Amino acid sequence: MSDKKVITRFAPSPTGFMHVGGVRTALYAWLWAKKNNGAFILRIEDTDKEREVEGSIAHIMESLKWLGIQWDQGPDIGGPYGSYIQSERLELYKKYALKLIEKGDAYPDPYTKEQLDEFRKKADDEKRPFLYREHRPENFGIWDGTQALRFKTPEIKSYKWHDAVRGDLSAGEEALDDFILIKTDGYPTYNFAHIIDDLQMEVTHIMRADEFISSTPKFLSLYDALGITPPIFATLPPILVEGGHKKLGKRDGAKDILEYKKEGYLKETMINFLALLGWNPGGEKEIYTVDELIEAFTLERIQISGAQMNLEKLDWMNKEHIKKMNLEDLKNKIFGFLPKEYQNEKIIPVIAERIAKFSDITEMLEKAELNFFFKEPIYDKTKLIYKTSTKEQTDININNAIKSLEDLNESQFTKENVKEALMQLANALPSRGEILHPIRFALSGLDKSPDPFIIAEILGKNETISRLQKAL
Ligand code: GLU
Repeated sequence: MSDKKVITRFAPSPTGFMHVGGVRTALYAWLWAKKNNGAFILRIEDTDKEREVEGSIAHIMESLKWLGIQWDQGPDIGGPYGSYIQSERLELYKKYALKLIEKGDAYPDPYTKEQLDEFRKKADDEKRPFLYREHRPENFGIWDGTQALRFKTPEIKSYKWHDAVRGDLSAGEEALDDFILIKTDGYPTYNFAHIIDDLQMEVTHIMRADEFISSTPKFLSLYDALGITPPIFATLPPILVEGGHKKLGKRDGAKDILEYKKEGYLKETMINFLALLGWNPGGEKEIYTVDELIEAFTLERIQISGAQMNLEKLDWMNKEHIKKMNLEDLKNKIFGFLPKEYQNEKIIPVIAERIAKFSDITEMLEKAELNFFFKEPIYDKTKLIYKTSTKEQTDININNAIKSLEDLNESQFTKENVKEALMQLANALPSRGEILHPIRFALSGLDKSPDPFIIAEILGKNETISRLQKAL
């Protein structure tokens, strides 16, 4: 690689919400810039006015900001090559268009839409691919800005090029055609604008999806006509549906990335998950901090084959990142999902251990699993009796438990002390379950729950004893 400063860019079209695919492209471009102490550009490619969706630009920026993928140059902060919104750069494209015309490498398209449709139909009928260049007019007039401007492919030839991920690629002459540079509405096409922008913004590496491979010979031909060396291409693998081979699209449930935020996935998890969705540094390690990812990231280890979406893995990773949180952050996140009256600090570890994502709390509150912490459980009282015990014996055991817990004062009512008191009673019985089971059941209404000592501590002395008395 040359010693030029690495400059990467993320160049989304504002045509709807961002999903994992777009975010991953941004992430890889950002990681590569960070790794090389380079710069990362956010550029908005809004030249297809019909497909534009209002609010997309704000959504793109909000999504990247949430994840901490901060751009060094972009629409809101500017930079040396602004504007970073293509629709505000029309003069620049025009300047290059005129240059190409002057060199004889561009010409106005003289055909009407109907005429072009006819050429296309004829090719279809003859089962040949339609190539505009076969209809290239002999003489053309002056471009007045109302006709489409086409690139006059200077040389019809095969192209070979190198892709940092896919290796050596090539395509035959059929991949070249006289494509549109400027449309009749005055806006440039993607094919033209991105090349001018990447040139002017000194972009060194282009990370993008595989759908652009088939157009690359056209791009190369334009780079040649402009006399410029193309940036390095790094084609990213497609993201596939879970368990399948189809590309993941919005129709297959590819969600708005901010939905993951709402559901309580951590940004650290999303970065870690998306980084490994199509790249891996080798080895067993799967949990990475952002800094570790920057350190480990290489283009060579981006995979060629598609990467399957895997929500189970996402949940697992979120659990792992939750384990790494400090208590204060954890408390803030959990309390964000807990009603005020339930915001008891002692419950934080109990919840943290049981959730994959923070919105699980909402569900747990509705389910027996958690709501006994906040509401007295309703249960079938015959279930209070342990399998080898009797009603009479259970009464005695619960009574003894109450007596021994009453000896502890409020400040001593910790899980350790409760455990010591109850285990003394339990160890004197033929089976510990004869006392531990009814206590667990009386407190939680469940056979399986966090251990009864921690429940007692969280409920506090009064509530614990009140539930035991109810059980009697
Ligand atoms: N505007 C293009 C898109 O959203 C970007 C392709 C590229 O990165 O060059 O698909």
